[in-house]
Amino acid sequence: MQGAFAEHVRALEKAGARTRLIRTQEDLEGVDGIVLPGGESTTMTMLMERVGLLEPLRDAIQRGLATLATCAGMIVLARDITDGMGGQRGLGLLDVGVRRNGYGRQVDSFEAQLHIDGLDGKTFPGVFIRAPLVERTGDVEVIASYDHHPVAVRQGRIVALCFHPELSGDLRLHREFVRMAGAKN
Ligand code: GLN
Repeated sequence: MQGAFAEHVRALEKAGARTRLIRTQEDLEGVDGIVLPGGESTTMTMLMERVGLLEPLRDAIQRGLATLATCAGMIVLARDITDGMGGQRGLGLLDVGVRRNGYGRQVDSFEAQLHIDGLDGKTFPGVFIRAPLVERTGDVEVIASYDHHPVAVRQGRIVALCFHPELSGDLRLHREFVRMAGAKN
């Protein structure tokens, strides 16, 4: 709908996937996975509601559609949102509480080397841009933390990240996602 989707398309195609932009309920038909990109979570939610995509998307993810959510995408998925715009609500599927722009506006963006469970070898370059701060986790598996807060979590076939892997030039997380999406539910 909005945000950093073009970079995800490039990363996914390099990782061997075929991609399609999802803008309507019909576009969801037959996909193995979906990326909820970074951008502006309030705008995304509003647009998805307007075109009637919010409910079908919630159903699809609940039924096990592989989902990679980054930054604003994580906010859209989160169960609780603090500092949202005007009682902001999203899909409410991921059992975390996030604070929008929780790393503070003065440190708009930064990069941090992350140790991510399940990724072999070197650390992953985490690019954070007005990132959400994860303040509460429920029934999710934390796969990476930074500065005592989770920055990557997994819940079933959902992987949600506070940072932007599509801007890092490191394809490992996209490759993992393509593999998960291709594997049977
Ligand atoms: N602060 C943005 C939001 O609330 C997220 C920023 C991003 O996705 N890089 O939606």
